[in-house]
Amino acid sequence: MVKISGDALWQVQAMFKATYVEEQSEDRVLIYQNATGDLALYRPRMSRSVVHVECDVQLTVIKDGQEWDLIADLHSHHIMGGDWSPIDDANERLRGILFGLFSWKEGHDVWLFRRWNGQTYEPVMYNEVVAIG
Ligand SMILES: [Zn+2]
Repeated sequence: MVKISGDALWQVQAMFKATYVEEQSEDRVLIYQNATGDLALYRPRMSRSVVHVECDVQLTVIKDGQEWDLIADLHSHHIMGGDWSPIDDANERLRGILFGLFSWKEGHDVWLFRRWNGQTYEPVMYNEVVAIG
């Protein structure tokens, strides 16, 4: 299973917190990986709102002659609270992609992860996806 570095995840949650503080809105970050295992964080252009964020997702991106594959699709739920929404359930159906949700509503850092296996969502534990150190 793909591991995301703790540093990368920390950057994502810092970005999500900043968006909440500065704009009172949610945010979204896609994580891509190349053949050598490097990670790239991509913050798509999107329409943000207090309810949700929408953007187009590209599964593969070619940059500097390298192929980068989407491995994770992360978004914040500060306002809605720390649980998946019906919109998430309708949209997060890309098989094999890690979906993550970060909530900071009550001042606590809460991450939830899951995968769609083609039939249902499988919860993924934090320590299964986050490489510490
Ligand atoms: Zn959501």
